[in-house]
This record gives sequence, C-alpha cells and structure tokens, in this order.
Amino acid sequence: MEGLRPDLPSMAEHGEIRTLHAEVFELRRANEILKFAEPHRERPACKRCRRVRPGYERARAGTHPSEPDPLMALATEVAPGVHRVADGLVNWYLIVDGGEVAMVDAGWPRSWSQVEAALTEIGRSPADVRSVVLTHAHPDHLGAAEAVRERCGATVHVYRDEVDRAHGKAKGSSPFTLVPGLAPHLWRPSAFGFVMHATVRGFMMPTWVTEVESFGSDAPIDAPGRLRAVPTPGHTEGHVALVLEEHGVVFSGDSIATLDVLTRERGARLLPDALNGDPAQTRESLTALGAIDAGLVLPGHGEPFEGTPASAVERARDVDDGGERA
Ligand SMILES: [Zn+2]
Repeated sequence: MEGLRPDLPSMAEHGEIRTLHAEVFELRRANEILKFAEPHRERPACKRCRRVRPGYERARAGTHPSEPDPLMALATEVAPGVHRVADGLVNWYLIVDGGEVAMVDAGWPRSWSQVEAALTEIGRSPADVRSVVLTHAHPDHLGAAEAVRERCGATVHVYRDEVDRAHGKAKGSSPFTLVPGLAPHLWRPSAFGFVMHATVRGFMMPTWVTEVESFGSDAPIDAPGRLRAVPTPGHTEGHVALVLEEHGVVFSGDSIATLDVLTRERGARLLPDALNGDPAQTRESLTALGAIDAGLVLPGHGEPFEGTPASAVERARDVDDGGERA
C-alpha cells in the first residue's frame, strides 16, 4: 500500500515512530524508578483510599540485592575481572584487581544507584572502589564520579589535558555547547530519544569533580588494573583510550563506538561529528587507537568489539562518510 497515500507515514517512518514510542515508554519507566527508588522518600499512599501505590513496592523490591530490578544496570563479565555495565545508552566498566575495584568512567550524573546495584551484583561494596579512571569528561562518562569520590572515598583519575573539563572549567565543558550541533538531528526519533534519555539521566546538569588526580601517558595509572593511557584527542581535547595490558583489553571511550547513539546503527564506527569537539582530530586519533596491542575493544557506547583495535578502526574507516551526513 506504500506510495498510494503520500500523506500517510511510509513503512520506514512507521518503524521510526515505533522507536519513538519505545523511547517514551522507557522514559516513563525511568521516571518511575527515579520517583520510587529514592531511599528517603515517604512511602506514597493514595490520598483517597490510603492504599500504597503498587509501583512503589515493585520498585523497592527491585532495589533489593536478591531480586535485581531488570530495568537497573546489569553487570556482565567481559574479560577476567572486567565487568561491563550497560547503563542505558552508555557503558561503564568495573575492574576487579585483588580486593579493590576501579571504575572506568562513571555513567550518567544520576547513575549512583546503578553503581551501587552493579557493585552488589558482582559481590562488592562501595568501600572496595579505590579509583575512577575517566576516558573523558563528557557528562555521560564523568557522570557519578563526584558521588563515587565522596561516598566511596575513591580517587578520580583524569588525563592531564582533560582536568579543566572534569572541573567544568574548560571552554566546552557545558553540555549546552553540544546543543547547536545536535539540533539538526532531532527530526530523527532515535536522536530525539537519545536527548530525552540523556536528559532524564541528568546530562544537562552534570556534577563536576572537585578533586582529581591527573595522569600522563608515560607510566601506568596508580589504580587497580594499572591502566595505561593512549591519548586519542578529538572527541574532547584530553580524550584517552585506556589499556588493560594484562588481559589485552582496551577501553576506547568515545574514540570509537559500536553504537551510533543518534541513529542506533551498530558496528564499529566513529560517533557522529555533532558529538566530536574536533572531528578531524578524532579521525586522526584512529591511527593511535589502531596501533594498540589488544584483542577486545570496550567502547563507551555499544557492545564489546571482539577483535583488535586495528580491525575496529578499519571497519570504522570503511563506514565513515567523512562527516557528510547531516
Ligand atoms: Zn559518550
């Protein structure tokens, strides 16, 4: 029937509309969690019949360690002692080294409850977290770092060129600087959905980190896992990939992704230019990323890439249109 009624959405547009409906549905559920999983909140009862609202019990049950809420982040072990937490559309990771834990990135500004849930899931507690190591300081990766620093007594490690951004003092720190670049994409339901998703999780109101320890690329970082930094500037000025040499793993941050958060296309790729501070430099940094000796690439967005960074880079270059797409 397609084409007979040009005023009606095509089948492809139907698909997009369905995606949008799914996003709105997810947004509502996320709001339910925010509303009901708040530990200090009064148990809300119906004003007329005094009965406790059912959603509250469900959400509270979900926060109990023995019965994890399926909507909360789930940790998956992707390499020995390395756990991926898919926190909505962003990933962060837990590295368990002896009795201590390092986080690679810290999710969204409102991810503290996910941090607690993921630690419980892997049999650890906040007291075990010694370090947070950031690939970069965008609000979807810096996220709950300050909360982790304060509540776990952890040190937040940031590459030396990213320190100002982590404090919220760099020229492009404010999330609002991304808005003009994103605006032309918002006609796409998946892009609009990402913006809603990010907003619910606090993207527009980041909590900057007040105290950081900076690192360079010449020596391993003094944190569990003893990660080594490889500068991959472009997405932000001080973006780094982090290498866990012991297990042949590289955390690529946003230097390469396997999910385009604006279109939801999958497979190794660059993020859209709208999200990269310096798109040309982001492309140049693929060379440094591709030279890393590893067998597993763990990105900030999307599934793990099982292969060498060189093969991920080759694939990303193959599908790169040089920034022509609107
Ligand atoms: Zn990101």
